[in-house]
Amino acid sequence: MPPADRAATIARNVRAVRERIAGACDRAGRDPGAVRLVGVSKTFPVTYVQAAVAAGLTDLGENRVQEALAKVAQAADLGPITWHLIGHLQSNKARRAVVAMAWIHAVDSVGLLQRLERTAREEGATAEALVQVDLAGEEAKSGAPVDVVRQVLAAAAACRAVNVRGLMLLPPWSADPERTRPYFRRLRELRDQLADGGVPRQRLAELSMGMSNDFEVAVEEGATIVRVGTAIFGRRAAR
Ligand SMILES: *Cc1c(COP(=O)(O)O)cnc(C)c1O
Repeated sequence: MPPADRAATIARNVRAVRERIAGACDRAGRDPGAVRLVGVSKTFPVTYVQAAVAAGLTDLGENRVQEALAKVAQAADLGPITWHLIGHLQSNKARRAVVAMAWIHAVDSVGLLQRLERTAREEGATAEALVQVDLAGEEAKSGAPVDVVRQVLAAAAACRAVNVRGLMLLPPWSADPERTRPYFRRLRELRDQLADGGVPRQRLAELSMGMSNDFEVAVEEGATIVRVGTAIFGRRAAR
């Protein structure tokens, strides 16, 4: 596709996704301003990021540290972008991630949180973090079981450079969003239980859930952050 056509397509897609988020908010009686759209640019070159930023998108997501660092550097001149690391983070990459990325979505252990906190302080950096929750047991590839989620939230009380803001979910994939809905609902219910159990509200304010295939259902169930790749940038080639 010629670059101009591609940019127009991406702009149209960003608008369409925003309209669908607004529709889901309408159905759920929610304020569309309370849902943050993260465009997931993984595998795509920085020209795609440029088109999305030109279309008004301010939040971009990557799932691999190496690729994220390269794209953050390439996109430095495009204006202010809030970068989200949405994939699994190995602790030996914590320092580089916490310096480059504004949000870290997949904190799944006390050890990783503490490593992020320590390296952020050493680097004079700050970051927003989410605790990735495993609600699927053996089916899940990543995330913390609920007892570990409680431990991470408790450990967050001692953090100053890393600000834990809520929960993140990557449910087992299904073509039918209605089959994913129960996972979204359970994440919201877990958030409510944790709040009732005394976890401070500001540490549970965000629910990062919903992708291209199911973000409307996620918004109906309370998502405050949706991570949308394909519906904005098109289909990815296999890695
Ligand atoms: C790739 C990815 C997404 C976006 O997926 P799409 O189906 O292309 O919207 C969202 N979240 C995570 C964690 C991802 O790795």
